[in-house]
Amino acid sequence: MPEAKLPPNRRPSQTKIVATVGPACDMPEQLVELIRAGVDVFRVNTAHGTLDEHQRRIDDIRRASRELSQTAAILVDLAGPKIRLGELPGGKLRCAVGDRVRFVRGAEATRPGDLATTYAPLVDELAVGDRVLLADGLVALVVEQVEPDAVGCRVIQAGLLRSRQGVNLPGVKLSVPTLAEHDRENAAWAARAGADFIGLSFVRSADDVRQLKALIEDANSEAQVVAKIEKPEAVDCLEAIVEAAAAVMVARGDLGVEIDIAQVPIVQKRIIRVAHRFHKPVIVATQMLDSMQHSRLPTRAEATDVANAILDGADACMLSGETAIGEYPREAVEMMHRIALATEPLVRRRRESETIELDPADKAPITEATAQAAGRLAEAIDARMVLVATASGRTALRLSKDRLFMPTVGVSDSDAVLRRMCLYWGVIPLAGAPVGNPIEVMKYVVHLGREAGYLTSGDRAVLLTGTGLKTAEHNMVVVHEVE
Ligand code: PEP
Repeated sequence: MPEAKLPPNRRPSQTKIVATVGPACDMPEQLVELIRAGVDVFRVNTAHGTLDEHQRRIDDIRRASRELSQTAAILVDLAGPKIRLGELPGGKLRCAVGDRVRFVRGAEATRPGDLATTYAPLVDELAVGDRVLLADGLVALVVEQVEPDAVGCRVIQAGLLRSRQGVNLPGVKLSVPTLAEHDRENAAWAARAGADFIGLSFVRSADDVRQLKALIEDANSEAQVVAKIEKPEAVDCLEAIVEAAAAVMVARGDLGVEIDIAQVPIVQKRIIRVAHRFHKPVIVATQMLDSMQHSRLPTRAEATDVANAILDGADACMLSGETAIGEYPREAVEMMHRIALATEPLVRRRRESETIELDPADKAPITEATAQAAGRLAEAIDARMVLVATASGRTALRLSKDRLFMPTVGVSDSDAVLRRMCLYWGVIPLAGAPVGNPIEVMKYVVHLGREAGYLTSGDRAVLLTGTGLKTAEHNMVVVHEVE
């Protein structure tokens, strides 16, 4: 029988876990440990490190996944046009309210109180009255004076600045393209390296997403674009961006600087709602278990934040510094997994009506109706497993959005599609199934399901697939009772 395996039935969480790879967790044995602890998707952040380092990590993740016979996906995150301070004279600058500082041209400032940045046109694009936020919003400035080679600012919120900290310009229209040359090169590399998802930072329009999709297509890659929502411009045209992208991320780090931090919770809920409407997976990211960088336990507020994101409808929750540079990467993944397991029984079914409802604009109405029917049927007969055979992953994603409370196994003959499913809530990707033959698929999954403890005699399983006759859509539901 097959080499592929279902994860042991220690109840994998239905909420997917994305973990950022970094020096704290990138040894091959640590990557194996993290998959065992529940990581579904590894994020490789090109904002730090070299392409050689990223390539080595990708190779090691693929090896770890093969070693465990467990599918894990890779998200390569592009840095985007993140503006940073250059080197500060002496490495730091304490700013008090009322102090005057200047942005100057060039990569390095020499006079105390002068700030250089990585964004050359900054001095030309700031206007009197603009607000500039530094160090994740800790220090705030207002522009008072614009000169040919410098922009004078007054400190309106005090704090300590260090070299290379982030610069955010909420509301300032910047000329910098979302996909600058450096990111284009990194995206082409990620496509060649076999990334499953490519994260686009600081998206401002659906056109930004389309540009990255075109670049990925040109590289003959199947990687999918994850649009990171972290700019007010993106929130303003959210629907168009979500429609254009394959998935979205609530990138709360920069979002919480670019918009009023008090608005972040409600914007998170809105992004999740829109992602559900368009049947796109949504990742909630940043500071979810932040204190676990240095503590074995999260704060009560962090544990509650993860649970609330899941109740809001997040398909995946992401760890950043916790796994990349923290002292307890495995414990952070285990904690997120435990919180997910404790919360998921309270997740509401997303079905609005008991009758099958179709949107007249639906481009695949037969699949939509059959998927809704399969979900209802599985619940009515108290099935222990739903199987979906899928060529693109779309039908598995559709089922996932219904939040069925039984394991949903996604089978496909494409490894890229199996890895894509790592981001779909409640879907367990399974390789090696004979997808052309529904009866054989059922036998294959039931065999593995019994072996891994998901199914036992008398349990029922439901398969959603296509006959292959006439329509390319999913149009067949098979019910099986395990002997
Ligand atoms: C964020 O800003 O929340 C985020 C996920 O992006 P990055 O970690 O690349 O800053």
